[in-house]
Amino acid sequence: MDYVDLRSDTVTQPTPEMRAAMAEAKVGDDVYMDDPTVNQLQELAAQTLGKEDALFVPSGTMGNLIALMTHCQRGDEVIIGDRAHVNLHEAGGMSALGGIFPRPLKNQADGTIALDDIRAAIQSPDVHHAITRLVCLENTQNFCGGVPLTAEYVKSVGQIARENNLTLHIDGARIFNAAATLNVSAKKLVAPADSVMFCLSKGLVAPVGSMLVGSKKFIARARHLRKMLGGGMRQAGILAAAGIIALEQMTKRLGEDHLRAKKIFDGLTHIRGLVLDSRSSTNMVFFNLANDVPLTDEQLVGEIKKRGVLISALGARRFRLVTHYWIDDADVTQTVQAFADVMK
Ligand SMILES: *Cc1c(COP(=O)(O)O)cnc(C)c1O
Repeated sequence: MDYVDLRSDTVTQPTPEMRAAMAEAKVGDDVYMDDPTVNQLQELAAQTLGKEDALFVPSGTMGNLIALMTHCQRGDEVIIGDRAHVNLHEAGGMSALGGIFPRPLKNQADGTIALDDIRAAIQSPDVHHAITRLVCLENTQNFCGGVPLTAEYVKSVGQIARENNLTLHIDGARIFNAAATLNVSAKKLVAPADSVMFCLSKGLVAPVGSMLVGSKKFIARARHLRKMLGGGMRQAGILAAAGIIALEQMTKRLGEDHLRAKKIFDGLTHIRGLVLDSRSSTNMVFFNLANDVPLTDEQLVGEIKKRGVLISALGARRFRLVTHYWIDDADVTQTVQAFADVMK
């Protein structure tokens, strides 16, 4: 059975055009920086985000870890949202592998960290304190509903960082979703940042890979750490070929995914027993199962699956649906119908 797979935008299969480009890609040994397709993707990524240089990495998790380890020494402190992917879903890598100390601050409902909270968390020089080195933002903020952070907000955080000699990293796994929904360029959204990671393998539909962008000096150090962490790949142009299509074409169509997510949200909103999270934004819909509904989380997932739709259970009666390239209008209708059937 062909499922309507709304578990994540990472489930996206590459398009036929991507597969053809991958088969034809000119390749070389990328550890020697000899792969023309990787080099082309890196130039394109740097240019698109308005930074000097870029690095192709196997995953977003590795990209974020490399960025944090490039900015920070062991024992340095990172100011980060408590709902951030880097804080919650990257296996504690910054501490385990980088010796970096997270300083999680509350993510507000709109995905931001309050500017006053950031100011207050910056440590004064004192033998008792870790050295605050970096602020890390996430855009879109996944676990706050896929909400975008505005250019104005990011600029304010950048200002605080500069005034205090800190660097700013953006986990922009879905930065192009933020750009599409805010109707600004990704370049403008990340202008205040020293480094940015974004994923090719989510809504942009490429099978593998993420990009790290920043200054030439930052990327040179990042390249060393990528090798150290085992992320130096050889004929990686086969993967980068799909990444070029992702960046050139897929960034331009994300508005469609956002519209379909909105249609799903609107369709579910009147179904009794589902409590929609009004913060749901971009390509994500979050909801809770009301306590009086006599279904466990697993039962809901199972019943919806019987109707041909896959969804993610996040625990504690919370669920997430994510739209992407392979979800069309008929899938939206089928999804709403599946919930209507199960909940009646
Ligand atoms: C998916 C994701 C990552 C990590 O990317 P992987 O390629 O899955 O390692 C980082 N940050 C956010 C916000 C994500 O959603």
